[in-house]
Amino acid sequence: MSGPVSTADAATDPGAGRPEACAVEVVDGRAAQVGSFHVQRVLPRRARRTVGAWCFVDHLRPAVVSAEQGLDIGPHPHIGLQTVTWLLRGEVLHRDSLGSEQLIRPGQLNLMTGGGGVAHSEETRGVYEGEVHGVQLWVALPSATRDGPAAFEHHAELPRIDAGNGEATVLVGEVAGIASSARRDSDHVGVDLDLRAGTSRLPLVAGHEYAVAAVDGAVSVRGTELAPGTLGYLGVGHDELVLVARAPARALLVGGEPFPEQVLMWWNYVARTRDEITAAHRSWTSDDGRFGAVASPLARMVTDDPPWAR
Ligand code: MN
Repeated sequence: MSGPVSTADAATDPGAGRPEACAVEVVDGRAAQVGSFHVQRVLPRRARRTVGAWCFVDHLRPAVVSAEQGLDIGPHPHIGLQTVTWLLRGEVLHRDSLGSEQLIRPGQLNLMTGGGGVAHSEETRGVYEGEVHGVQLWVALPSATRDGPAAFEHHAELPRIDAGNGEATVLVGEVAGIASSARRDSDHVGVDLDLRAGTSRLPLVAGHEYAVAAVDGAVSVRGTELAPGTLGYLGVGHDELVLVARAPARALLVGGEPFPEQVLMWWNYVARTRDEITAAHRSWTSDDGRFGAVASPLARMVTDDPPWAR
């Protein structure tokens, strides 16, 4: 899945949303469309741009795909980020300009590192018919690797932890000494929470900031109930996450060391300056080879130049 990220998601106002140890800050998702799918975008928002290195969280609302109407996200470019794809239901085929062709199913992780340039498509037609429900997240790459080579990983098996009244699956990073083998270039963590009714607990790192995204059913954190499609930002200074579910629920925990750099996002690009984004977009538009080619039956996604370059 992809952006596009626009100024409606994240105005370029540096300084907004510094981490603090306080009550839960609820971020409502903004409705957006990705391919034929309706999504709730909870990150980036004007009030909250990053949580650790996590810079984008799209909740792909449950929808039925068929032979006629698929997910249909045609080839599109990325720079400076990793895409993290996680499904609750359904199957999606990933193809990228590295030559990867990988079907993803619930419980599995697709992790694509964009580096200086990669393109991919996400498809269901000819692959799967039925309900699709999932989440796509982006991780901002640190300067050490954001211009580096692109890469793709598929993880069919991920470590799980008993959280009391639920099971935690470690997608990326480490919780309670249990680490995912997925690549990470900064100190961040992503955890799926499959909760039964009751209270569940996970240890946190006090110096890291965290947020909980409710995905299916409601969960409460520190007395604040989070409905699906919302994000509860916890800030820093917590050594334990306590989640209360009144009924079975799914949620995601994202967090990490507060990202030390100001990121600039537009469309499918994560960068530091407008010039970097303009250059990447002109490479994509002119198809000059920077992003390679994706062997997809879907049309390449195109859009106008960024507003500052028109
Ligand atoms: Mn994408």
